[in-house]
Amino acid sequence: MNNQIEQAIKFFKQSKRAVALTGAGISTPSGIPDFRSPSSGLWNKYDPMVVASIDGFKRRPEEFYRWIHPLADLILHAEPNPAHMALTELETHGPLKAIITQNIDLLHHRAGSSNVYEVHGHLRQATCLSCGYVTGAERMLVDFVATAEMPRCELCGDVLKPNVTLYGEVPPLNIFQAAEGWAATCDLMLVAGSSLQVMPVAELPLLARQNGSRLIIVDLLETYLDEMADLVIRGDVAEVLPQLSSSFVPQ
Ligand SMILES: [Zn+2]
Repeated sequence: MNNQIEQAIKFFKQSKRAVALTGAGISTPSGIPDFRSPSSGLWNKYDPMVVASIDGFKRRPEEFYRWIHPLADLILHAEPNPAHMALTELETHGPLKAIITQNIDLLHHRAGSSNVYEVHGHLRQATCLSCGYVTGAERMLVDFVATAEMPRCELCGDVLKPNVTLYGEVPPLNIFQAAEGWAATCDLMLVAGSSLQVMPVAELPLLARQNGSRLIIVDLLETYLDEMADLVIRGDVAEVLPQLSSSFVPQ
């Protein structure tokens, strides 16, 4: 075990109220590509900034659904990986009190974590933009992956939009405010697999730091907050986090 991981364990042992902030990098080991990354293959035909924007969705929902279909297929079949499991162990046996995630893929829940704040929404529900009808989306996801047909509102027949935050939309306010509350009151924030590029979520570690929290960043790439962090581990979350959590699991 290297010194950095020992240092991270020490910080966690001293913590009473730790919070994790996770991004796309925690789900790439589960086979879900970061759609912001040009290497994901999801840029081949469409620019996500256009097709996955709220304006783009309203103008051409069929393009949005064509673009998201391969991603939906991967999400439907993905399993939580050792990084998700490690955070569940840190919640069960360690000081981790909450997970704030930018991911919509439901994998933290499926890994057994209980206090999860999905600041960019999730795929459990969908909303009709015409009549406001909200419906469960789990069946919809299965059907959409199977048929590639756009899901429609059972009341008015218009297209349903999954309850995920698209570009140009504000994150769900109550969830985001709860996440801000955790950031302002934690004594340790672990950023895992987020390149901290999407505002306003990327400001949460800064808020934590300004309120006296320690900050640990685990990511393959540099982030804008590396210089302010107490510890930066440049590594794969699926390798680093299990080493961290294993020191909390009773033998
Ligand atoms: Zn409707």
